[in-house]
Formats: sequence, C-alpha cells, structure tokens
Amino acid sequence: MINGIPTLEDLGDVTGKRVLVRTDFNVPLSHEGETVTISDDFRIRAALPTIEWLTERGAHVVCASHLGRPKGEPNPQFSMDPVRARLAELAPGVELMENLRFNPGETGNDDAFTGELIDGIDMYVNDAFGASHREHASIVGPAKTLPSAMGRLLEKEVDVLLGLRNRPRRPFVAVLGGAKISDKLGVVEALLEVVDSLVIGGAMCFTFFAAQGKPIGDSLFEPDQVDTCARILAASGSKIHLPSDLVGLDAAGSYATFGTQLPAGAKGFDVGPGSAAEFTDVIMDARMVFWNGPMGMFEDDRFAAGTRTVAQAMADTKAFTVVGGGDSAAALAQFRLDDDVDHVSTGGGASLELLELGDLPGLAALRN
Ligand code: ADP
Ligand code: MG
Repeated sequence: MINGIPTLEDLGDVTGKRVLVRTDFNVPLSHEGETVTISDDFRIRAALPTIEWLTERGAHVVCASHLGRPKGEPNPQFSMDPVRARLAELAPGVELMENLRFNPGETGNDDAFTGELIDGIDMYVNDAFGASHREHASIVGPAKTLPSAMGRLLEKEVDVLLGLRNRPRRPFVAVLGGAKISDKLGVVEALLEVVDSLVIGGAMCFTFFAAQGKPIGDSLFEPDQVDTCARILAASGSKIHLPSDLVGLDAAGSYATFGTQLPAGAKGFDVGPGSAAEFTDVIMDARMVFWNGPMGMFEDDRFAAGTRTVAQAMADTKAFTVVGGGDSAAALAQFRLDDDVDHVSTGGGASLELLELGDLPGLAALRN
C-alpha cells in the first residue's frame, strides 16, 4: 500500500488469473500513406516491469489503452495493430484490446462498456498515470468490482509527486510556464501553499504583468484571468518571481529585447537573459524543484534560450528535480538533459492535478 492505494503485492496470488492492465500506449505514430509505424516505443517498454511482474507469476495479461483521439468510433488511423505487433516482440503472449476510444463508452464512463472490458477478467491493474485524472470507464470502472492495484509506473508517479506535496524539502521551488494559463492557475494557488518560491515564465507571465497594470503589447494572455492573477499577487506576491526582461518581436516583426513593459504591437516569446540567470540562481539554491511549462516558444530557436537555461539549471542543481508536462519533457529531451533530472512525469495534466488536489479519480477508484 502507498497512500492507501494497493500495489501489485496486494493482489495476492495471481497464478492462472486473467489480469486487465490499463496501460498508456498512446505512442507517437508516423503515417506514410496507408502504413502507420510507431516513432517511439518508450511507452510500451515503460509498461514492461508491471507486465513482467504479472506474467512471471503465472498471470495472463490483457492490456488496454487509448491511442490518439478517434472520437468514439473505429478509425484505422488509430488502430492498435502497430502497438500490438511491437508488444508481441517485447512481451510474447500478452493480449492487447482494440483502442478504448473507438467506443464512446470509454470517455462517457459507461457501466455497460466497463462490463465489456472486464468480461472474463479476474483482476485489474492501472498503470496509466497520464490518463488517471480522467473519469473514463477503463480508469474508474473495473476497480468497482474487481480486486485492483496500481502498477509500477503509477506507483512511482504517486510516490514522487505526493512526496513533493506532502514532504517538501526546503527551499522548495516551483517553475511554471507554458501557454495553458487557465488550466494552470488552480495549481499555482495550491503550490503557493507549499512552495517557498514560485518562478513564472512562458506566456503565463503576461497575464500576471497585465494584473500589475503593465503594458504587454500583443503577447498571449487570458483577459478573464487577470483578476485571479491580481488576487494571487496580492496574497503571495513575495514568493513569486516574474521575469525582469523579455525577448520577442517588435511591432515590425523584428527580433527584439525588452524590459518588462512591451510597446504596442510587440510580442513577448521568451524570458530574457537576465531573467534566465535569476531563475537559475533560485533553482541552484533549492533542495526540491518542480518544473512545468517551457519559459518561451522554444520550438523556435530564437526563443529557446530561456527554456534551455532553465533546463540546464534543472540538470545542474543538487536539488531533487521533477519535470511534468508534455512540452516541458519534450524540451528537456531536445536539449538531451532528460537523464539529468530525477523524475520526468509521464502525465502533464495528471501531474498538475495530483499536485493541486492531492488525489486523482483513478487513484480514488483503486483505494475504495
Ligand atoms: P506543457 O505541455 O509542458 O504543460 P504547455 O502546453 O502549457 O506546456 O505550453 C507549451 C507551449 O507554450 C509551447 O508550445 C510554447 O511554444 C508555448 N509558449 C511558451 N511561452 C510562450 C509565449 N511567450 N508566447 C507564446 N507561446 C508560448
Ligand atoms: Mg503542452
């Protein structure tokens, strides 16, 4: 048991049992005409510890996952066939169901669909952290009636992320950026309760600048979140580090550096070198750091420096470092620094929600 959630050991004897394992096989695909191939099998290999633990003990494993967004109906573009072929090489004899999202009952959390999933199944294991913040049938349904547990991947995520939240080593620093501001303000407020410092970069900083009454030019921001940002600044302003300089495009579309006030028509696309150095100092002095969201539009080389500097600080600091978020993880991998942090979470939304609320629907389902 970890945090009241059963682990594989709690399943008891699995010999001869059919075990449904909800995996995250939402792998990147490349399409060439009619042929679909897997461009990275990392997620399939990541599920092997759980699968092998079960098969070595005589269980028959049936995996199930979603793949892409097929909108509740069969779509050959999102067929599980390429995943099934790779799985057969890595774990012979393991079954894989068809894409869960070919059936609207998956996202609709339909009891009849759960019934189909667990027909002939004796036990259930959830190892799909990245989907565990969703109340989908395969995540919350089977545990209602079957002996259930979390798999090894889920166990690691819960251990690391709840450890941050419940047993912080200080100074504990959170670094937030990216573009999904309204999605992330809830976690900003929750994190401010536990962190010593909160560093804000990415497009997220402009809604905070707007709340301070600063001109932000044509930068990305969410007008309906300005009041929330003003409230957050009033309550916890001393913990929050905003950029002190910015990089972007001026009104004529030319690369330009700015202070924290942007002229009309200008767009901020990255934190400036001064900010990146200040953020590095905060990260180097920390004992624990959680990072979600790139510092700028790092996909464009001109605006990658802020994200690269923060990624390097994450790699260099002696602090315990955790990175969550699809684009943040992609940035780390692009800079080849993913092996230099302590934990890269497999779930962006799920990691934020677990930090914010301390629980997820998929975990609650296993606990009951
Ligand atoms: P994550 O996937 O790590 O949670 P998000 O999805 O919230 O992060 O945001 C990532 C995106 O934010 C990237 O595509 C990046 O280009 C964009 N972004 C970051 N800073 C800016 C900015 N200043 N202006 C526009 N887009 C930005
Ligand atoms: Mg993203």
